[in-house]
Amino acid sequence: TRVTLLAGGVGGAKMAEGLAALPDVTLTVIGNIADDDEFHGLWVSPDIDTLTYSLAGLIDRSQGWGVADEGHRALEVLFRLGQDCWMSLGDRDFGLHIWRTMRRGRGDRPSLIAQDAARALGVGPRIVLPTDDRVQTRVRADAGWLSFQEYFVREKCAPEIRELRFDGIDSARPTPEALAAITGADLLVLAPSNPLVSIAPILGINGITEAFRAAKAPKLAVSPFIAGKVVKGPADRMMAALGMRADALGVAERYAGLIDLLVIDAQDADLRDPITALGMRAECRPILMRDQADKQRLAGELLELAQVTA
Ligand code: GDP
Ligand code: CA
Repeated sequence: TRVTLLAGGVGGAKMAEGLAALPDVTLTVIGNIADDDEFHGLWVSPDIDTLTYSLAGLIDRSQGWGVADEGHRALEVLFRLGQDCWMSLGDRDFGLHIWRTMRRGRGDRPSLIAQDAARALGVGPRIVLPTDDRVQTRVRADAGWLSFQEYFVREKCAPEIRELRFDGIDSARPTPEALAAITGADLLVLAPSNPLVSIAPILGINGITEAFRAAKAPKLAVSPFIAGKVVKGPADRMMAALGMRADALGVAERYAGLIDLLVIDAQDADLRDPITALGMRAECRPILMRDQADKQRLAGELLELAQVTA
């Protein structure tokens, strides 16, 4: 069974780890590149790195991102040299950023670089970029526009969000790999990732939503909200600040017309009827993924719900 997952960082990687563990599933993950930014002259791709480190078994499990058993000596030196060091980058992590930047400097396609990194680090599933062009999330707070990492890491999501934009998205071309992964899938899944800053900048690339809509495969999403709360991160505050419902129904409203089925938690069973009224199925399953067993069980349920056999 060919499963294609659209994913952000931490929530996306958890779902990817579950799907990757199922026998007879060939998984392709389309990751988000709109969180990418440059630090100390190096190109950092946080969501793609989280996917790569998770699927390679290198991830720091306690924080859900970064490499386990990490040191920060390179960052200490950069700090002494007067660099801004609010973006936590570990010594091992730096190795990947150096190599990525070197290859980009040679003119290699970002997609190919991501694919080669995944292979070299021992990732089984394919990690595909939605575009090789530069797309960057910008967040408007009262003090002005911030890059996504400035908002997320430096400001710790404290400023109230007034507006979101994705610089470069109008002219970004989809990669042939992403289009093929959508068109050729037996099952399409939107991970329980941040709908506004992880899934939207993938679907917003020219041709991606059209391919998704045109695809014949069943289309599922897993809610990142459980009982009106996110497991982690600012999706709740972002959605509320932008006038959306910050719960599983708000997610359903975002994805209406795009997906056939939204998987929600049993605690949100009261939202089944209003979600169904939007023209999709709603099914309750345990969607909190605390460990690998949870991830795998949920992944198996997705295949069952979609009635595609693994
Ligand atoms: P980021 O790029 O690292 O912020 O990660 P994503 O956008 O992929 O995922 C963030 C979302 O994942 C948050 O809104 C969380 O609520 C959601 N999330 C994290 N862990 C879980 C989980 O175990 N189950 C569900 N359903 N959602 C989760
Ligand atoms: Ca992210």
